Amino acid sequence: MTKVEETVLEIDLKALKHNFNHLKSKIKSSTKFMAVVKAYAYGNEAIEIAKHLQSFGADYFAVAYLNEGIALRNSGITKPILVLHPQAINFKKIIEYNLEPSIYSSKILEKFISVAFQEKLKDYPVHIKFNTGLNRLGFWQDDIKYIAKTVNETKNISVKSIFSHLAASEDLEEKTFTLNQIEKFKSIADNFKKEIGYKPWLHMCNTSGILNYPEAHLDMVRSGIGLYGFGNSEKENKNLIPIGSLKTIISQIHHIKKGDSVGYNRAFKSNKSQKTATLPIGHADGIRRQYGNGNGFVYINNKKAPIIGNVCMDMIMVDITHIDCEEGDEVVIFDANTTAESLAIASNTISYELITGISQRVKRRFI
Ligand code: PLP
Repeated sequence: MTKVEETVLEIDLKALKHNFNHLKSKIKSSTKFMAVVKAYAYGNEAIEIAKHLQSFGADYFAVAYLNEGIALRNSGITKPILVLHPQAINFKKIIEYNLEPSIYSSKILEKFISVAFQEKLKDYPVHIKFNTGLNRLGFWQDDIKYIAKTVNETKNISVKSIFSHLAASEDLEEKTFTLNQIEKFKSIADNFKKEIGYKPWLHMCNTSGILNYPEAHLDMVRSGIGLYGFGNSEKENKNLIPIGSLKTIISQIHHIKKGDSVGYNRAFKSNKSQKTATLPIGHADGIRRQYGNGNGFVYINNKKAPIIGNVCMDMIMVDITHIDCEEGDEVVIFDANTTAESLAIASNTISYELITGISQRVKRRFI
């Protein structure tokens, strides 16, 4: 593998294919696969990733917001795209770009119908979201009659799917809660079908749901983090390959003495002579301040170097006293072996936050 000469997020498209195939092997061939590519495909890069996922056989895409959907359409993604969290102000554009909204409240439903009416649409596909316990977005079970009546009174939209989101599918201590969510959703689906007179697709599983709750795979699953290489257990992590490797180089090496400090606010004070390296990556690149002061670490020549002092906007400093290295040497922040997950855990966060936080300033390179 070529060494990097600047800060780069390398994206391994073979690993993406492996993860896609692994997750597909967990579901029936009749169950559709929605690839969740919101937030720049979890901080990787949405366009190339979506194009590849489309060629691997993803049936559907999901994004959070309008601009993410437009970017996919402009790059030639032809599969249906669900916008998980649309705002009413964007409904005309959603339609213009042939995106499909999640409808989660009566206000949003009525507003979308009025826009669909103005645009003279017929049976425009929408996805009705139900809240089964996450208490974030979604209709309640009691709203079924109202939704069915409202949808059946218009010819402008039709319900392509109804869906819900699991609150703790990765957490087996919450199994009773999750099973309860699944039961609740199945009962909502039965009632909905009776009221509306047809059966929309049903979906509720995210990656951990796919891995832990086969009984909830239903008509479609929605996977994000698993595609990017993170499972929900050590065993599953072994079956998935992190697709992103964040690398940089050593800009400068310093030899400091006992009593010297490093970085802003003199947050690190040395109690011995030591060697430090300054790296060209900081909080503006996604290395959050919480990774500083000994919480986070990087790897240089396969040796762990803790981040010392406060994280700066464009730089971090690491302790390399025990490492034989020189200016220009490659530094691994995370890769498939060291994993973003272990850095995230050490810095008291989760892989989702670490990888989605890698800013657009960092160059992406596909390998
Ligand atoms: N479905 C919805 C509604 C989501 O918000 C998300 C991600 O947050 C997903 C599916 C994908 O979840 P995961 O990345 O855990 O697979």
